Amino acid sequence: TRAHLDAMEKARALNAYLVETPDRALAMAEAADARIASAQARPLEGIPLGIKDLFCTEGVATTAGSKILEGFTPAYESAVTANLWRDGAVMLGKLNLDEFAMGSSNETSAYGDTVSPWRRAGSETKLVPGGSSGGSAAAVAARLCLGATATDTGGSIRQPAAFTGTVGIKPTYGRCSRWGTVAYASSLDQAGPIARTVRDCAILLGSMAGQDSRDTTCADLPVPDFEAAVARGVKGLTIGIPQEYRVAGMSAEIQALWDRGADMLRDAGATIREISLPHTQYALPAYYIVAPAEASSNLARYDGVRYGLRVPGKDIAGLYENTRAAGFGREVKRRIMIGTYVLSAGYYDAYYVRAQRIRTLIKRDFEEAYASGIDAILTPATPSAAFGIGEKGSGDPVEMYLQDVFTITVNMAGLPGISVPAGLDAQGLPLGLQLIGRPFDEETLFAAAQVIE
Ligand code: GLN
Repeated sequence: TRAHLDAMEKARALNAYLVETPDRALAMAEAADARIASAQARPLEGIPLGIKDLFCTEGVATTAGSKILEGFTPAYESAVTANLWRDGAVMLGKLNLDEFAMGSSNETSAYGDTVSPWRRAGSETKLVPGGSSGGSAAAVAARLCLGATATDTGGSIRQPAAFTGTVGIKPTYGRCSRWGTVAYASSLDQAGPIARTVRDCAILLGSMAGQDSRDTTCADLPVPDFEAAVARGVKGLTIGIPQEYRVAGMSAEIQALWDRGADMLRDAGATIREISLPHTQYALPAYYIVAPAEASSNLARYDGVRYGLRVPGKDIAGLYENTRAAGFGREVKRRIMIGTYVLSAGYYDAYYVRAQRIRTLIKRDFEEAYASGIDAILTPATPSAAFGIGEKGSGDPVEMYLQDVFTITVNMAGLPGISVPAGLDAQGLPLGLQLIGRPFDEETLFAAAQVIE
């Protein structure tokens, strides 16, 4: 814990941590030492972790990367973080993120960009760590924690993991409780870990997951021994390669990475089979209707009365208006406007209902693939390696949204997906591959990812 606190102090230029909690960390570490000394060690005893600042932490400021939550200190602990502390882990601090987890580069945070510890060969250009869990990925990559919590609504664990050479898993929707995690799009949001190895991710997810009656969408299923699954291998498994992910303009580099991943799985005893997921191309547009719709509803609670920032007005409506105008950033306002539009009378059937229908079709594509004997699906994690800060999306937000073409289908179908480092690009930057699994079969993903790692 001390070594990590020292490293954090030296790496403040990365802006990965929004809040450091050294006193709490040292107290937790001492309690862990005492339990180890009395032979009562718990599974994560003394393991120092960073927490994405979307998880409410009792007595420690929680901002969701937004000015509107400035001054908010939760009186409760999120289910996921409480599970980690129950198992002996140590909290180092709260990690930067895109505002309300809306973004793919950490550039929408109201508290400044997180900088990736990676650089292109021979270049000093500062790169994004990906997003929205950019602080989590940068902190793990820069060794400012042994692992971090993250969340993934449309790629926000897997894309930053791919950009930073780390491992990240979005478990099946319902595997982790959402209780106490600031909501973005409730039917898509899911917590998971980012860590340096597949095994570390398996261990962390085992602690984070589990039934919780306070989240009615949280599955009442036992948590498997994920760590034991890591060494299982892929002999006898059938891995699908979906042809629709061979999108126009895919670079030769990404194609080669994908082929190499398939070869590794084949060499380890898996059968590789081409499959079709015909509705793939509709996932991104449908996501950008469903997610903003749910966000516009979830973000209605930030009214200047109940949480954080309050900007007075001449009456209550003025207070709402002034608080929300000052408290929300550009991207969040854009999503609230899109969301309220697609939910409004007259447009609801044309947009929202159709997007939900598309979601069902996407889910069915995967169900058919799995029914035909596919155990897991291999795709690239991202269309490219990390880009420079300020390089993308300032003119056209869709340029940024396209970051998530390979990851968003998984959220729409509620499936588990893991991103695992699989090589470097020509400029020496990490690239990741994604494995997608059957519902509640994270074990196969850990086994297959271990073969690629
Ligand atoms: N980049 C996507 C978005 O901005 C996904 C974010 C996420 O998974 N939280 O909505």
